[in-house]
Amino acid sequence: MSDAVTVVEVGPRDGLQNEAAVVPAADKVRLIERLADAGLPVVEATSFVSAKAVPQLADADEVLPAVRRRPGVRYPVLVPNVRGLERALAAGADAIAVFTAASDEFTRANIGMTIAESLLAFAPVLQRAQAEGMWTRGYISTAFGCPYSGAVQPAVVAGVAGALHGLGCREISIGDTIGVGRPEQVPEVVEAVSGSVPVSELALHLHDTGGRALENVAAGLAAGVRIFDSSAGGLGGCPFAPGAPGNLSTEALVGFLHERGHETGVDAEAVREAGAWMRGLVGR
Ligand code: MG
Repeated sequence: MSDAVTVVEVGPRDGLQNEAAVVPAADKVRLIERLADAGLPVVEATSFVSAKAVPQLADADEVLPAVRRRPGVRYPVLVPNVRGLERALAAGADAIAVFTAASDEFTRANIGMTIAESLLAFAPVLQRAQAEGMWTRGYISTAFGCPYSGAVQPAVVAGVAGALHGLGCREISIGDTIGVGRPEQVPEVVEAVSGSVPVSELALHLHDTGGRALENVAAGLAAGVRIFDSSAGGLGGCPFAPGAPGNLSTEALVGFLHERGHETGVDAEAVREAGAWMRGLVGR
């Protein structure tokens, strides 16, 4: 098994969409560029959901085309539907992510659909994206627990992952949306999902709300996962626990991986500086 780990930076999207402050477009562009310059191979840049749903990222059409792209770096954008995909294409996106969850209670609250309805809605989005030659990722929120319905069975996560993979998602990111994941849960979920998705195409999106994100990273590594999501400066709190941490911070993740002998190609200090600068801008 390879010791190299791919760190997927989600701060400019998942971080900023969960901060109350709205950051000027030029600063978002600068953040994305600084993170790519720090060696991050994937920088999720923004989201083409409606401005009403996520006012913090209403400038996606302006931000993405302004980014100076580093060769070899991927800049995925979140897309909720065909309309969002068309906006993303017009802005020059070549990688997208779609998002659903492992509990109907959460998808109803978050996107007004059941899981099954969300998968039906994504089918034409993913089909069109693939026809356009785009790289595609699928997110599954609440894979370790749901703020509305509680425990989530690994078999349910596996079913959603298999469906997204079947629709052509090249990578599936399994999210601990409320940060309740326990290290002993991680191998159970990974093993269940690996029945339908190769573990090399699985990412873990861990939150540190319960303070166990790095323990869960270790459990993920032991289970064979080599892709982890994180956010520079730990940007993005937890909407279900005001004031508590949400996204695992990229500098903590990278430091942890390097200590354990995993190469990432990322300069943790440069990420920390970029994250600290942005934390200042959002008033944290
Ligand atoms: Mg997150």
